[in-house]
Amino acid sequence: LAKAEGKGVVRLFSPKAKTQTLQGLTLENDLRRAIKRDEFLLVYQPKRCIATGAITGVEALLRWRHPELGLLPPDRFIPIAEESGLIVPMGKWVMERACAQHMAWRAQGLGPVSVAVNLSPRQLYDDHIVSDICEALAKAGMEPDWLELEITENMVMQDAGDALMVLRAIKETGVKLAIDDFGAGHTSFALIRQIPLDKIKIDRSFVNDILTDPNDRAIAEAIISLGQALKLRVVAEGVETEAQEAFLREHGCNEIQGYLFSRPLEADALHAFVSDHNLGRLLRMRDSGAIK
Ligand code: C2E
Ligand code: MG
Ligand code: MG
Ligand code: MG
Repeated sequence: LAKAEGKGVVRLFSPKAKTQTLQGLTLENDLRRAIKRDEFLLVYQPKRCIATGAITGVEALLRWRHPELGLLPPDRFIPIAEESGLIVPMGKWVMERACAQHMAWRAQGLGPVSVAVNLSPRQLYDDHIVSDICEALAKAGMEPDWLELEITENMVMQDAGDALMVLRAIKETGVKLAIDDFGAGHTSFALIRQIPLDKIKIDRSFVNDILTDPNDRAIAEAIISLGQALKLRVVAEGVETEAQEAFLREHGCNEIQGYLFSRPLEADALHAFVSDHNLGRLLRMRDSGAIK
C-alpha cells in the first residue's frame, strides 16, 4: 500500500525519515526560541563590477548562532522555517536588519553600496509582503532603489499569474528585483520577459565548471546573452578562480560574486573590506595616470 501511494509514504516509515522529522520538530521549536532570543545574524558578501572594479553592492545572507550547534548556514534551517511559516517573520527581520545596516554603513561614510535580500516563496505569497518592504525601508529611512530583492525561478512558476501581480506591486515600491540561481529552475523565456527584473544571477553550478564543461559554458553564455537582450545586469555567483572571472569578463557579464573576491563577512569586516578595496582601487587608478 505504501508503495502504491508513492515515494512520500515509503519515506515516512523509514527510520532515517523518522529521525529527520524529529530533528525537524526540535529545530522548529529551537527556531521559535531563536527568534525571541535574537540568535540570528546577517553576513554580507560583496559584488564587484567587472568593468570598473568597484564594489557595487552586497548580498545579505542569514546565519543562526545556535546555542549548542554553533553557527548554522541557511541550508540547515531555512527549509524548516519555510515549512512552518516561521520564514515570514524571519524574512521580515532580515529585511529590516539589512536596511538598518545599509544606513549604518552610510553614516560611517561607506560609499554607495546596495544591499540584496533573498525572499522565500512563503514570503512572496504572504499578504503583507509589500507593506513589510515599505516598513523596513521607512524604519531605516532608506530610499527604495538601494534595496534589491532576490527571487528564484521556481517561486514564479508556482503560480505565474499571482507571482507577476505581486512582483509588479513590489516593483512599484521602487526596490530592485533580481532573479537568483538562474538556469537551475524551470521558467520559460516568455515568463522571464514579463517579470519586472533588473538583474539576473547565473547559478553557481554553471560557473563552477564554466571552463571545463562545454554544456555549462554554453548555458552561461546563453544567460549572459539573454540578460543583454532584456537589458538586465548579469551577475555570476560562485566565482572562485581568476580564469572563471576572465571568461565571464570576455563574455560580457557585468558583476561577480564569489570566494575569489570575498567570502560573506560580518558587518564591520565588510566595511573594512570595502573601504580598503575602494581606496586600493583609487590608488591604482592614480598610479596608472587615470586620475590625478
Ligand atoms: P544564494 O542566495 O544563491 O546565495 C549564495 C550562496 O552561495 C551563499 O551561501 C554564499 O555563501 C555561497 N557562495 C558565494 N560565493 C561562493 C563561492 O565562490 N563558492 C561557493 N561554493 N559558494 C559560494 P549561503 O550563505 O550558505 O546561503 C545559501 C542559500 O540560502 C542562499 O543561496 C539563499 O537561497 C538562502 N538564504 C540565505 N539567506 C537567506 C535569507 O535571509 N532568506 C531566505 N529566504 N533565504 C536565504
Ligand atoms: Mg541570493
Ligand atoms: Mg544564488
Ligand atoms: Mg540559492
